[in-house]
Amino acid sequence: HDAIWDWNLVNDEVWWNEGFFTMFGYDKNSPIPDLYQWTQKIHPDDREKVIGRLKTVRKNTIYFWEDEFRYEISHDNYGTVLDRAYVIRDIKGQPIRVIGAIVDITERKKTEQQIAYSEQRYRQIVETAQEGIWVIDERNNITFVNKKMCEIIEFEPAEMIGKQIHSFMDEEANKNAEEDIKRRRQGISETLDSVFITRSGKAVSTSVSTNPIFDDAGTYKGALGMVTDITKRKLDEAQIKKSEADLDLKNTELKRKNTELEQFAYVASHDLQEPLRTTSSFVKLLQQQYKGKLDDKADKYLHFVIESSDRMKVLINDLLDYSRIGTKRELKKVDCAKVLQDVTADLHKAITDAGALIISDQLPVINGYATEIKQLFQNLTINAIKFRKKNTVLTLNISAKIEGGHWLFSFADNGIGIDKAHNERIFIIFQRLHTRAEYQGSGIGLSHCRKIVELHHGKIWVESTPGEGSTFYFTIPAHLSTDNI
Ligand code: ADP
Repeated sequence: HDAIWDWNLVNDEVWWNEGFFTMFGYDKNSPIPDLYQWTQKIHPDDREKVIGRLKTVRKNTIYFWEDEFRYEISHDNYGTVLDRAYVIRDIKGQPIRVIGAIVDITERKKTEQQIAYSEQRYRQIVETAQEGIWVIDERNNITFVNKKMCEIIEFEPAEMIGKQIHSFMDEEANKNAEEDIKRRRQGISETLDSVFITRSGKAVSTSVSTNPIFDDAGTYKGALGMVTDITKRKLDEAQIKKSEADLDLKNTELKRKNTELEQFAYVASHDLQEPLRTTSSFVKLLQQQYKGKLDDKADKYLHFVIESSDRMKVLINDLLDYSRIGTKRELKKVDCAKVLQDVTADLHKAITDAGALIISDQLPVINGYATEIKQLFQNLTINAIKFRKKNTVLTLNISAKIEGGHWLFSFADNGIGIDKAHNERIFIIFQRLHTRAEYQGSGIGLSHCRKIVELHHGKIWVESTPGEGSTFYFTIPAHLSTDNI
């Protein structure tokens, strides 16, 4: 299929074979085109080169040339050919004839361009990769490194090419080098943590994924490695481990302190009961047996002592109750509707005295500590009754809905409300906002509630508008309310 041409320099005649006509799109039966006509088919950028050859052939001393040029197949569509020419000379060395063969290399060119394009694309990917990349040959010598790899270990490509990859790694990696290569030759791909040493002697922890390369015949040709700098990850891991250990330590310490505190509260309140009982009964005896025998002042003082010791008894009992919460932990199915029924029955008198209206939605069955849940419901109900508005019918709405893996309970009243400034304070033990003359109580009810809710891994808070009412919310994780006990 090649185009063959034979140019007689003596009579300036040119002979073309059939392949020429086909290649350049001439009709087989048309007259032989002259040289000028033919050169018009050559791409304008290549035309001068070809014409130059032809013009100077008589003056030159060359015997052979090889030119690549493009020719027009159709409008704006060019093919590429390779033209090889031999100059034949007479005995005096004068050129008398040139014989040429033109091979169409359009397809080859296209493929070459595609390869060049795809190579360029891959090179771009490799160079912009966030991983270091190296390629080694079968003798473990580096044949390629990308930009990132050079950045990681602070060497220039020229300093690395031809060197052993292991010479840029730490001793440990060097020790394993031979085994590594053996595995590569066996076709094993793997990811290993390795340490590279930078130009400035810094150790860089990396994760290296290595893949062996084989040719078509299955011969080992080397390997390709992808290197991720994990120094930061390693540091983070170490940091996290340390923080976890610190946290564990603090947790244990906290648990110990908490137990200590609970024990202290228990022991103190328990042991204080006895001397208080003695003091109070003797003061009462004193009051009974010496009434009128002492002066008025003494009677008044005795009255104050009795009143205070009674109050102290209440406080100590409250404290004892508080420290007992959750000590006999037994998770049970607790039907909150039933709990509310019991609470309203227990508080029947207070509710009817207050003329309160207690309304509840359907309440769930949860898994919890029955006694404590009842106490929680009771404290919140008592408070609603206690802190109701005068001249207004108290309504207490109790409801529960599932939200984000928790049961969200709410106790909404239309009572006196709480100033926002005290939203946190009221949950602290013995903190109250009123005097005993205004409202009875020791300020322990809500701290009980918080302890109970926290025992169930929930949270408790209040939202309130003074003069309009308060809503106490608490959550109980829903997983406590499944059948998994
Ligand atoms: P106590 O009821 O003995 O005072 P609590 O711990 O139960 O103690 O409550 C602390 C304070 O929170 C109360 O003194 C009261 O001021 C406020 N409080 C609690 N419940 C309500 C409520 N439903 N409406 C208004 N104020 C409340």
